[in-house]
Parts: sequence; C-alpha cells; structure tokens
Amino acid sequence: MPNTNGVHFFMNPGPTNIPDRILRAMDHATMDFTGAAFKEIADECFAGLKRVFKTEQTILGYASTGHGAWEAALVNLFSPGDKVLVPETGYFSVNWGMRAEAFGIEIETIGNDWRRAFDPAKLEARLREDKGHQIKAVLAVHNETSTGVVHPVAAMRQAIDAAKHPALFCVDVISSLGSMDFRMDEWGVDVVVVGSQKGLMLPTGMAFTGISAKALAANAVAKLPRVYWDWQRLLGQGSHQGYWNGTIPVHFFYGLREALRMLEEEGLDNVFARHHRLGEATRRAVRAWRQNNGPELFGMDPSGQSDSVTGVLLPDGFDADKLRQICIEKFNLSLGGGLGPLKGKLFRIGHLGDLNEAMVLGALATVEMALDLTGVPHGKGGVLAAMEYLVSEA
Ligand code: PLP
Repeated sequence: MPNTNGVHFFMNPGPTNIPDRILRAMDHATMDFTGAAFKEIADECFAGLKRVFKTEQTILGYASTGHGAWEAALVNLFSPGDKVLVPETGYFSVNWGMRAEAFGIEIETIGNDWRRAFDPAKLEARLREDKGHQIKAVLAVHNETSTGVVHPVAAMRQAIDAAKHPALFCVDVISSLGSMDFRMDEWGVDVVVVGSQKGLMLPTGMAFTGISAKALAANAVAKLPRVYWDWQRLLGQGSHQGYWNGTIPVHFFYGLREALRMLEEEGLDNVFARHHRLGEATRRAVRAWRQNNGPELFGMDPSGQSDSVTGVLLPDGFDADKLRQICIEKFNLSLGGGLGPLKGKLFRIGHLGDLNEAMVLGALATVEMALDLTGVPHGKGGVLAAMEYLVSEA
C-alpha cells in the first residue's frame, strides 16, 4: 500500500506547494468579473506583477499553461518563414523551438552542453554573422527546469547589443520568476513568458507575458493567425473587458493577489536569498552523496546552478525513476523525473515556492534513504552537510 500518511512532501520543480493563505484567499464566492470591485483586484494584480517582472511595460494574461504563453509569444511576434535563434539549453528550450517550427517559423539552434550555462559569446558570434538581420528573435530559457542549470540572461542581452543586432529577446522565466532575480527592463528583455504554478505558488492554469514597446511594434506587423492569444484584442481592441479574452477566472486573481502580497511582505530579495539557501543546502547534500562514485550534480558550472531546482544524475546502470518510485510509495515524497533524453538517468529536486529549511531537509533525508534502498553507491552525510550549511546561514 502506498504511504499516504502525514503531509505529502511535494518537491517537484512545479507545480509547487500552494500556501494555505493562497488557498483560503481563493475560497471566495463568485463575483461579477465585469464590475468595478473585480477590476480593482485585477489592477492590483497587474501592478504587483510589474514589480515582480521588474518592468514598467505591458503585461498581459491568459487562462493557460506555460505552453499557451509560449504559443502566444510566437503567434504574436512572427510571420510564416521568419527565422529565430534558439540557444539549446535543455528539454524546454528544444520544445519552445519545436512549437515555433510547427507554425512555419524557421529555427536555428545554437548547440550547448545541457550541463553547462550557455556561453553568450556563441550568441554574439552568430548574430554578428547575420549581416542581413534575417534572425528576428532569440528564444531563451532563463532557468532550465529540465537540468537545473540557470542561464546568463543579462549577458545574453549584452551579446545581442555587442553584435548590434535588432533581434527581439524572448525569455521563458517559468521556473525562475519569483524564485531568482530577474529584471525585464534592466536586462532588456522584449518578451517574458511565465506560468502561475511555480514561484507564484498558484495552481496551474494562468500564464502571463511581459511585452516591451519593441515587441508590440513587431506584433503590429506579425502575420501568423491568432484570436485568443491576440495581444491587440487583449489590449482592448475588440475585447469588451479590455485585458482578458472571455470569462475571467476570478478565483485565480484572488489567489494571485495573495501570492503577490506574500512575496512583497517577505521582500523579493529575501525570497531570492531563501531560495539560494535551500538550493545551496541541496547542492551540498548531493556533493556529499557523490563520494564512493555516487550521484552527482547535473549542472557543472558553479555560476549556472539553479536556486529553484537541482538535477541529480545517477551513476550509470541505476534507474532514477525507480528511486523516485520508492520515494513516493514508501515515504510520500514526490520528486521530478528526467525529461526527454534524461529520462531514468536523472531526478530533480524542486526547491522553489513555498518551502522552508525543514521541508528541504525532510526531502533530502528521504532521498538518502531511497539511495540506500535502491543500492545506489553514495557517500553518507548528505543531510548533515545540508544541516551544517543551514546552521552557518541561520
Ligand atoms: N518552460 C519551462 C522552463 C518549464 O519549466 C515548463 C514547465 O515545467 C514549461 C516551459 C511548460 O509550462 P507548462 O507546463 O505550464 O505548460
């Protein structure tokens, strides 16, 4: 019988734990989404999102997952035959690119070892070669949830500028926003894509796009067909509410308002520092397990290690999905699995959203037990290393 006792330890890199405060805030009677009372809530949410995105520019939303927001960015920015550049950083960057291809957009990928942070010099070199400015945009993923590697968005912007290239810079921040520092305006990002279910601590089902003035200008001439996703409709040209297409999911907005209040009460910098502590504690545990040819951190660059998710690579011949199965069935702990070519080779510990030290230590202790139970060679003392670090930071 699977163990369903006590708290379900949810350590996936998204969706994430939904705080009780947010659940309670969503426990609300339905209200008229066309009325002034709701408009006030929505206005508070969009203003709060701007502070989290660190932008003064436009933010639009949809009832959708991150996949929908990916698609919205593509159909709003491009025409069939346009070319975009995709720095290959992992499963999610590849998938965003594949979706673009499905719309007749030409994709050029810049290869990169999935275990390493992307080298912006490669981007600069490729854009310098593109003298005719055929490349319309760069599609990048800030934090590759599939690998646990974070990529240098600010330096990628500098690379585009150094090449004096007009390409739009589109960045997926689905597993970094609200967990790690991100600055839309300062870093010169034209289009930002995010979903509700990770750093924003909400259920899955809302997604948002930050849009620069330059991206809005590109939208005005982009020819791919779009209706639900159409930014012009969402900006009030043809949609009666002005900022949403169709019935507005008011309960999500109640939740979002609470989530934004929670992030601001803690302070964004403190939120990022907490994620860093929990991420570093996790990495120290994995480094201790690495002894005796045990599991290792998938991300190899110290500067590229994500504070929201850690990818843990098992030694050859061991099945990461079996280890995850033991964690869930015996101990009621849910971990993320390997995606695409990493399936079975790697498991992922999500440490983003509504989490504290005790929750992370509980998860690390459970993984250490599962390493024993699956016979994976490893060094002892991972949890101790994490504890010592957390004590030193307390
Ligand atoms: N991009 C990244 C970096 C993600 O982590 C995910 C999901 O985990 C997605 C895109 C897809 O988002 P969704 O599952 O909400 O469609």
